[in-house]
Amino acid sequence: MDHTASDSASGTLQLSIVIPLYNEVDNIDPLIAELETALAPYDGGYELILVDDGSRDATFERLREHAARLPHLRLARFGRNYGQTAALSAGFHMARGQVVVTLDGDLQNDPRDIPALLAKMQQGYDVVSGWRRKRKDTFMNRTLPSRIANWLISRITGVHLHDYGCTLKAYRREVLARFELYGQLHRFLPALAVWSGGRLAEIEVNHRARQRGRTKYGIGRTFTVILDLGTVKFLTSYGAHPIRVFGAAALASVVLGLGSLVALVVMKSVQGVDMTGNPLLYLTMLGVILGVQFLLMGVIAEMLTRTYHEAQGKRPYVVVERVN
Ligand code: UDP
Ligand code: MG
Repeated sequence: MDHTASDSASGTLQLSIVIPLYNEVDNIDPLIAELETALAPYDGGYELILVDDGSRDATFERLREHAARLPHLRLARFGRNYGQTAALSAGFHMARGQVVVTLDGDLQNDPRDIPALLAKMQQGYDVVSGWRRKRKDTFMNRTLPSRIANWLISRITGVHLHDYGCTLKAYRREVLARFELYGQLHRFLPALAVWSGGRLAEIEVNHRARQRGRTKYGIGRTFTVILDLGTVKFLTSYGAHPIRVFGAAALASVVLGLGSLVALVVMKSVQGVDMTGNPLLYLTMLGVILGVQFLLMGVIAEMLTRTYHEAQGKRPYVVVERVN
């Protein structure tokens, strides 16, 4: 992929920039100005997709004014606040470019980093993720939890990144089309991309302190991210075969139950311990009941994955290339 004038003239759109905005009215003018400057070399080959995530200030009115003079500025507005992931996802569905770049709308990400991201993509990567090496956020409730989260996500997914939380990333659009996003899942896209066979790179990007408007998040996001990590791990490791997880748990429970049953009988016949007074009796019951429950849950989960894939015409694998 290259960004020559002939390419854009032939009508293939190279680049879609997707930005979520929630109550960012004061950032709109400088954001669009900085983007237009940074993207001037790609003239005619890019579109800006700005998604208003149910702002209660004049964000959308301001956006509309810009759209009236910029034909490559495309807008979407949510009627209420659905969250950053949903806003990004809406933008992904609108995107027509071969490469999709996401960034925050508060100017903490620097549009001047976009060319470097694209240059890296040209080396044959499917996702290029920004790394805010010198992060300009408060330490205790941002930078520190994020360090821990990055370490944990890298460990658990096996996909190592310094900075999962950085919104400034570039994706090949086909990669995005593979996933529907829920919760805070957008930050796990690099892991999902790699899991589906994509190539991932990371480059250092600039990060700036917020000048206007306010942050939308507190420490609470850390917990959402951890829960979503559980979902991602389950989906990527066992999504196609839930019975393996539940089946293992069922087996462990039943073994525990039957083991304590044997102990019960031995204690009764050898030592004459009353079975009714023996706490192992409860363990036996618990183990067997849990085992049956786990097994049934596994069967239900297996049926759900089939419904999930078949109802959406999805396959449990991803073909990255086909010839003829
Ligand atoms: N955002 C959004 N919906 C939300 C929360 C945030 O669209 O519910 C946008 C917000 O306008 C900004 C980006 O997501 O463009 C990142 O949000 P923020 O700057 O508050 O996060 P932080 O940089 O503090 O992590
Ligand atoms: Mg921010």
